[in-house]
Amino acid sequence: MIRRNTNQRQIVFDSLACLGHATSDDLINHINNNYSNISLATIYRNLTILLEEKQIKKVKIGDIDVYETVKEKHYHFKCRACGNIIDISPDKIPNDINSIKMIDNNDVLDLDIVFTGICHRCIKK
Ligand SMILES: [Zn+2]
Ligand SMILES: [Zn+2]
Repeated sequence: MIRRNTNQRQIVFDSLACLGHATSDDLINHINNNYSNISLATIYRNLTILLEEKQIKKVKIGDIDVYETVKEKHYHFKCRACGNIIDISPDKIPNDINSIKMIDNNDVLDLDIVFTGICHRCIKK
């Protein structure tokens, strides 16, 4: 029983690693197309456990929540044409933004930027 649960969790994690960024709907479609059917409840239960274990995280891109595996600090670029979400390394961003410690008398702990535009693949079309 424990082993079966572990395998399902691994499937959820591997699917997310494969997709990069995914909504719960994206994950369910991917899992049902690539593995045997797993119930929605099971996927949600495993997502919750993976979040608690800090193996994955939930990020807000515009007005949608997407999951991703925990990686190095990065920001996001979302393509308005194809919806693709691309990771942007902090060293692509002007350093004076990365290094802000105080803003308007508020202590800055983290910086979250979502860029939107047209991705490199859509520009070529
Ligand atoms: Zn695009
Ligand atoms: Zn990301």
